[in-house]
Amino acid sequence: CGIVGYIGHREAYPIVLQGLQRLEYRGYDSAGIALYDGKDLKVSKTKGKVADLKKRLEKEISTEGSIAIGHTRWATHGVPNDVNSHPHYSNSGNLVIIHNGIIENYDALRQELLKRGYAFTSDTDTEVLVNLIEDVKTKEGVKLGKAVQIALNQTVGAYAIAVFDKTKPDEIIVARLGSPLAIGVGDDEFFIASDATPFIEYTNNAIYLEDGEMAIVRRHKDLKIRKIKDDTLVVPYIQELQL
Ligand code: GLU
Repeated sequence: CGIVGYIGHREAYPIVLQGLQRLEYRGYDSAGIALYDGKDLKVSKTKGKVADLKKRLEKEISTEGSIAIGHTRWATHGVPNDVNSHPHYSNSGNLVIIHNGIIENYDALRQELLKRGYAFTSDTDTEVLVNLIEDVKTKEGVKLGKAVQIALNQTVGAYAIAVFDKTKPDEIIVARLGSPLAIGVGDDEFFIASDATPFIEYTNNAIYLEDGEMAIVRRHKDLKIRKIKDDTLVVPYIQELQL
């Protein structure tokens, strides 16, 4: 139900954790974070509150790293439990995703992926989506952004997503259709969130993605926004937030 992400030069964990706390008002049943510490992709997630996640995560994984995504879940597909909590990995273990919304045709997509040898550990529509992205990426030999775009064009439903690849931990791909997504533009850093509250003290420059848009958010680079349907490049409109 809530999405937070960070890529830049700061420690990502405290920003993402605090961001999740700020989004608690949206309601949720589970929470989780994925971060890349320079060597490995680490995921910690749990049914329960962000405070429970904090306790668990700080025991389970190191919190270092300058790229992270975090999620609070409001279960729609699969009961609220640890396994169904986000983030979700792809089968290779390289891709990790957080998702708000519903992929309505997840069952048909899941059947296709099962035939192609994919396995699923959760009951979520989200785990289907991350493996669809992986399947497109390997099959078509395209970059992550393109794979996300092709995969999303095969889905029916609503989403705000953030996904990254641990083998290329310098970009986060985000997209929205029917669920809100804001990007905070800082000085050589980007913040991602369901609304601006998680990043308001770091920057007052925000881009609100429109429905049907996706963005490639890269470290040390300008951000690129495209229409998911037809790949049209969109000029980013940066709004100044009133503090
Ligand atoms: N449909 C997804 C799930 O059930 C995401 C729910 C949400 O928006 O938090 O896991």
